[in-house]
Amino acid sequence: MKQEIRAHNSVLDLIGDTPLIKLNRILAKYPGNYYAKIEAFNPGHSTKDRIALYIIEQAEKKGILKPGDTIIETTSGNTGFSLAMVSIIKGYDCILAVSSKSSADKIETLKNMGAKVYVCPANVSTDDPRSYYQVAKRLHEETPNSIYINQYFNELNIEAHYKTTGPEIWNQTNGLLTHFVACCGTGGTISGTSRYLKEQNKDISVLGIDAYGSVLKKYHETGQLDKKEIYPYRIEGLGKNLIPSATDFDSIDHFEKVTDEDSAHTARELAKTEGLFLGYTSGAAIQGVKQLAKQGVFAKDSNVVILLPDHGSKYLSKIYSDQWMEDQGFFDTEQIENPQKVEVIR
Ligand code: PMP
Repeated sequence: MKQEIRAHNSVLDLIGDTPLIKLNRILAKYPGNYYAKIEAFNPGHSTKDRIALYIIEQAEKKGILKPGDTIIETTSGNTGFSLAMVSIIKGYDCILAVSSKSSADKIETLKNMGAKVYVCPANVSTDDPRSYYQVAKRLHEETPNSIYINQYFNELNIEAHYKTTGPEIWNQTNGLLTHFVACCGTGGTISGTSRYLKEQNKDISVLGIDAYGSVLKKYHETGQLDKKEIYPYRIEGLGKNLIPSATDFDSIDHFEKVTDEDSAHTARELAKTEGLFLGYTSGAAIQGVKQLAKQGVFAKDSNVVILLPDHGSKYLSKIYSDQWMEDQGFFDTEQIENPQKVEVIR
């Protein structure tokens, strides 16, 4: 029989079909069964691989993109990395306008993934020509054959999750899930997944996680964008200071807000209890579930799926650094006096 080499055609073949893993310890004291959808298993280590591939392939299908064209977006985060990765394989130029608040590590990573990075001042208003929104808009206008991804206002962001994340979760649970929990940034993940799941079973409850300092929860409850809700916070990728059209508020039953401090501790606890070394918003999602469980939202026979968006390696100098935790005032005296010991042998 002819021997075949079993290889993937490119890294893009590995996007999606992420595993669902039962959480056995971190939520054990609450009623219900808890399962984590681990998006760090995507090749770019985050859920954003899905939208990068989907939005680019839709543009190809419509004949808007051909090799050599340019992809433009405003992000130093996961979406930037995923767009750079897809652009390399498919032969596009990738331009990312990022804020000067972005860490040097992130900017170097994007450069190493072949992206052209414009670092724009963080302390200017969004309509200032130097802001990363305006720079991206200008570059899009000036660059022939370019597309602007605009993830916060792009319906295809929702569609990517409707077509992939939703069906995966439905099939992995054989339709037995009762609750779906996800963080909200652009809202694409929760909205697309929720639309698919609720079409299969309208009784599935969809719970969004938001940050203190963000406007999403209040907008969901009142229909008002209350600027008084806005203040700076540390979690990246969660919550927003504007209302993204990529969030379908009707597809979400309830929003739960979490703090920077609780989310950081819960991410560290997830590593120590379940062996899952994941990102800041993964900690936020589990923290939100703990709060909801304490409010009596889940019963003994609840099957709760929690989407965990990215990998812990992106946060080594933040939540996984004892020094950073201490600098934020997130360690109490006992934790400072009894840190996790590292023995140095000389
Ligand atoms: N967590 C992280 C780490 C993210 O980068 C994002 C994307 N902003 C989210 C959560 C939220 O996902 P979405 O934008 O689909 O709401």
